[in-house]
Amino acid sequence: MVTETYTLFRQRVLDGTTCCVDEVERALEAIRINEHLGAFITVCADRARHAAEESDRRFRNSTPRPLEGMIVAIKDNISTRGIRTTCASRMLDSFLPVYDATVVERIQEAGAIIIGKTNLDEFAMGSSNENSFYSVARNPHNPEFVPGGSSGGSAIAVAAGMAHTALGSDTGGSIRQPAAFCGVVGFKPSYGRVSRFGLVAFASSLDQIGPLTRSVSDAALVASVISGHDPHDSTTSHLPPIEAAPSPFAISEQRARLGVVGKAILDSVSSDVRRTYEDVLDRLRAHGYSTVEVDFFSIDAWIPTYYILATAEASSNLARYDGIRYGFRADTDGEDIVTATRTVGFGPEVRRRIMLGTYVLSAGYYEAFYGKAQRARRWIVENYRDIFARCDAVILPTTPTPAFRIGEKISDPLAMYLNDVLTVSANLAGLPALSIPAGRSSDRLPIGIQLQAPLNADDYLLRIAHDIERCLSDRAG
Ligand code: GLN
Repeated sequence: MVTETYTLFRQRVLDGTTCCVDEVERALEAIRINEHLGAFITVCADRARHAAEESDRRFRNSTPRPLEGMIVAIKDNISTRGIRTTCASRMLDSFLPVYDATVVERIQEAGAIIIGKTNLDEFAMGSSNENSFYSVARNPHNPEFVPGGSSGGSAIAVAAGMAHTALGSDTGGSIRQPAAFCGVVGFKPSYGRVSRFGLVAFASSLDQIGPLTRSVSDAALVASVISGHDPHDSTTSHLPPIEAAPSPFAISEQRARLGVVGKAILDSVSSDVRRTYEDVLDRLRAHGYSTVEVDFFSIDAWIPTYYILATAEASSNLARYDGIRYGFRADTDGEDIVTATRTVGFGPEVRRRIMLGTYVLSAGYYEAFYGKAQRARRWIVENYRDIFARCDAVILPTTPTPAFRIGEKISDPLAMYLNDVLTVSANLAGLPALSIPAGRSSDRLPIGIQLQAPLNADDYLLRIAHDIERCLSDRAG
């Protein structure tokens, strides 16, 4: 298996103690041994082996590119030319894209090796990876538990040594939550910093692609390659790409002022998560961070606003799967093709969301639900504006509980949705947010903490995260 960060691996290739061809074999071996975890939908073994030979050649000729030899697993809702891209849906079971997503094009040009396409909740709708047409996915720390979702396969791939890094998409927490459940770093950049061209759309005003990695440095490195304006996505900003290496704080430099959550929120999370959070704050204060309690007065609106806007956008984005243009088409027996295809082509959660979204957009209810949710979204943005007037970044738990058991919430959609309470607000406000491993629960499952920063302060967020990662690994601190 792959056992180190890309940054360390690269150093060892440069030192001549390992090579990309061997590393790809180690990754493929980990994928084979851990097949029961259900991390991958498609594995690209031969393609990866060829790419590794090319990377070794580049290292030998002293012309390595920024991600040379980095083994990357890609969530299967990101388009890869000539590699099946299913979104874990029967609807796209046989879909072979004719173009690469911009992020895929950029990482490959930078020398990354694509090892395969990872499992997810169908069309990225879910928090547990149980909504996949192919298989459930399992937490590598305990296979009875979910890996989180929707980018569950990507988180497993990194946590179980099947890749150095992975790409995921985050509409309401789908990078950060599985990263927290599997004990890896997950970074959702600011809305517009990374191109969505080639990402199969779920909720276009919330979706963002980002990396899952073993360290903050690796996350910054991948982000630096995939970020930046893209003429194919008019919502991408013209800001320069994210910095590849977060600059360390100088000894004399003031540490950040962190906004922290109050008792009401802490009372609503599990005791393990609370203990970890409080312990992290104590350690950060000992390292010179200051904290100020901030008022997330809009918190009760986060979940309802998210699930109205996300389902509304999803119902519109998924209208294109009609059995005529893409992928799967149901056999019909007099029934119309569109209805028959959509009834069997989509799984239950996707159908539920299409119905919810259609309902909130229907003429009679549009103002009561969709219009109101849009106003609530602006209020949430204002809440963050007030918060960031008092602090440089906020720190909060990534999830209310550690990973839950497979099957525990699947028949209770509301309980599943509530699990996203601490992640959706960053998407609603477009903010950069990141989860880093911070501790373990009493039954040894990973627990993450989340950092969020003002819109487009991605470089600053990574800088703080890098420093905090160091503070947390310093046990004596
Ligand atoms: N769990 C959330 C949902 O089900 C978020 C999904 C995501 O970020 N793609 O909508």
